[in-house]
Amino acid sequence: MARYIDSVCKLCRREGEKLFLKGARCLSDKCSLQRRSYAPGQHGRNRIKPSSYRTQLREKQKIKRVYHLLEKQFRLTFEDALRIKGQTGANLLILLERRLDNVIYRCGFTESRKQARQLIRHGHFLINGKKVTIPSYRVRTNEEITIREKSRTIVPVQAAISAGHSVVPDWLHVEPEAFKCIVSRIPTREDITLPAQEQLVVELYSK
Ligand code: SF4
Repeated sequence: MARYIDSVCKLCRREGEKLFLKGARCLSDKCSLQRRSYAPGQHGRNRIKPSSYRTQLREKQKIKRVYHLLEKQFRLTFEDALRIKGQTGANLLILLERRLDNVIYRCGFTESRKQARQLIRHGHFLINGKKVTIPSYRVRTNEEITIREKSRTIVPVQAAISAGHSVVPDWLHVEPEAFKCIVSRIPTREDITLPAQEQLVVELYSK
């Protein structure tokens, strides 16, 4: 599976806003965007000509990067969203929000989605008592996600839980002392606080 291995701070600088991809560092004054608030690269400080295509593209890239996906994975999720009744843009965000790596991050068990993805791949999480190693797994109502007993003392989990930076959304019920999270319901668009204009992604992919 291909993955992005360059600096993630460059992605925030490209989008011109904090995407919170690095955990605690994003909340500190070490944040690269605070230090260099212009796009990366030789032409980063050049004036940019606005266009509707550019606005749509940047919005798509932003959402894709927040959830730490590459183009193919994002496009496949969009196609799944198209097959669901209702507004495609909202469906897209809901499908992204239901990804296991996102849920682990939202629960506050890791400091970033990237870290959640790595720990899932290494088999540290169970769903209804069974090991799941697929970060794109879509959680369903009443599923119980737990951290494997042996993994509860590993440094990234301990650091994330004690930092307590995460604001747990209403659709998840988290018991940090039991290292457990229950999916109370499927999220709605209103539960997703990401400042995104998902309609622009639909417009872009409809061209
Ligand atoms: Fe983005 Fe966090 Fe890096 Fe700041 S520290 S640029 S918010 S990833």
